[in-house]
Amino acid sequence: MKKITIAIDGHSSCGKSTMAKSLAKTLNYIYVDTGAMYRAVTLYALRAGLMDAETKHINAEGLKAQMDKVDITFTHDEAGRMLTVLGGEIVEQEIREMTVSNCVSPIAALPFVREHLVALQQKMGLEGGIVMDGRDIGTVVFPNADLKVFVTASAEVRAQRRLLELQGKGDTTTTFADVLKNVEERDYIDSHREVSPLRKADDALLLDNSNLTIPQQNELLLKWAMDCINA
Ligand code: C5P
Repeated sequence: MKKITIAIDGHSSCGKSTMAKSLAKTLNYIYVDTGAMYRAVTLYALRAGLMDAETKHINAEGLKAQMDKVDITFTHDEAGRMLTVLGGEIVEQEIREMTVSNCVSPIAALPFVREHLVALQQKMGLEGGIVMDGRDIGTVVFPNADLKVFVTASAEVRAQRRLLELQGKGDTTTTFADVLKNVEERDYIDSHREVSPLRKADDALLLDNSNLTIPQQNELLLKWAMDCINA
């Protein structure tokens, strides 16, 4: 069977990773969560004192000088779940916390951060057989991807899903209003930044999953992928 390249882009917390992971598993493809890579750079910047979590001020020159030291890789746990590794340390939990979520979009708007991560992502996809999710995969990372999907859902639906996920991980302090604000802020920054703003590629298929269950969305995506593989 031919090994294709699949780009999945869309808004924050719309379930892109869930469907991308499921598709990669079914097809036995590599899965890459590019949001995790931007989150890992953000965690690095916060820990190195190069970004202030309160004011969101970034020491961009300092971060630029250290970009080569930001070592991001992935590993798996026993259940096959993907884990993000920063400088040899598993940081999967830390990069999902609200502090990082609140700081990641300004970091992702820095041109040198994007250049660095896009080059890494393109290397990962050289062989095909990959499902990559993010904001600019179909427009910038793999403009010639065989299948491009743009996922969206209403901000309220996305905030509710994200809140349940945080609560499932034991977070009892974050409120619906906090998450909704974060989702809306990230949508705004991601869609309005100068470099690679979030937008649907002209040739991407639109998947609005506001009213779809996870099995329904997975089924639809698999159908699109199989149509493309068999074409
Ligand atoms: O996908 P996730 O919500 O984890 O991504 C976190 C943030 O990383 C996004 O809000 C966006 O600012 C940034 N991002 C990006 N380009 C990508 C993936 C993520 O700018 N390809």
